Amino acid sequence: MRILIVEDNEPDLRLLNDVLSVHGYETLTTGHGREAIRLTRHHTPDLILMDIQLPDLCGLGVTRLLKRDHQTSYIPVIAVTAFAMPDDERKAFESGCDAYIPKPVMIQSFLHTVERFCRPLGPKTLERW
Ligand code: MN
Repeated sequence: MRILIVEDNEPDLRLLNDVLSVHGYETLTTGHGREAIRLTRHHTPDLILMDIQLPDLCGLGVTRLLKRDHQTSYIPVIAVTAFAMPDDERKAFESGCDAYIPKPVMIQSFLHTVERFCRPLGPKTLERW
């Protein structure tokens, strides 16, 4: 299972990347919206974690774009953002995000949300079944 992490904050990116790698996910990372679009088209990840504030494009704009393109629209997008305002959650869903995780990220609930969309292959998955 391959996850694209879109996050411009280095420590946050490293944390998400480490947690997912340890749990058996393959990851791709970028801190830019345009690069996120390019990587999505090129690698078709199984899931995208999308920061909203990015240096070039807004993460919600990137999500809208991906959801309008039939080649990428089926890929689930989870918004991960520091804006913990009720309105932001609504905006994320309106932009096509499939789930919303507020920062600071709580690891266990973060992994639960990720697993709703894709499970890593390997011993961890087998144990549960
Ligand atoms: Mn950001």
